[in-house]
Amino acid sequence: MSMRIVVLGAPGAGKGTQAARISDHFGTPTISTGELFRSHIAAGDELGQLAAGYIDQGNLVPDDVTTLMVADRLSLDDVAGGFILDGFPRTLAQAAALDRILGDRPLDGVVDFEVQIDAVIGRMLRRAVEQGRSDDTEDVIRNRIRVYHEKTAPLAAHYRERGLLISVDAMGEIDEVASRVVDALEHI
Ligand code: AMP
Repeated sequence: MSMRIVVLGAPGAGKGTQAARISDHFGTPTISTGELFRSHIAAGDELGQLAAGYIDQGNLVPDDVTTLMVADRLSLDDVAGGFILDGFPRTLAQAAALDRILGDRPLDGVVDFEVQIDAVIGRMLRRAVEQGRSDDTEDVIRNRIRVYHEKTAPLAAHYRERGLLISVDAMGEIDEVASRVVDALEHI
């Protein structure tokens, strides 16, 4: 099944984990901008060095840089039959850029993972310990949540107006949430 999907949600909502589940279920590749940035950082290249300064503070990497990276990735053959975009767009400007990149093959749906913010913070602090991410200290997490509310949360209304939004209750066990998402996507 070919689907062009975006997953949205507050930091720590589990969208990365759920994107992987959707990917396994439908056989659709995932593109995670956070992962792409982290691999540039690990490679120590120019993009990685630029991105690290923003990521370590919990701020967004500038739209133009991020959009170019995503446009490059979306031009590869493996996503011709569909993709799950995790972590992009994160601003209204990126959403507009994504529309331009996709042209006459637009998105099929946008899954919004809804969580209670207090639970999210606890989940992220646990993940920080498990994964040792440099952007998972408490101050940085709080900034990421602030940035999410200011810049990314408005995307839900934007996609709702376009009839693309699929809201999913993301509180609960991973398997439970995954089956809600799969059910919802089977009906788009
Ligand atoms: P994530 O793994 O999706 O939580 O992303 C980790 C970090 O990468 C974010 O906190 C941002 O600093 C950066 N990042 C990821 N995606 C984007 C994006 N679409 N626009 C700007 N910055 C991004």
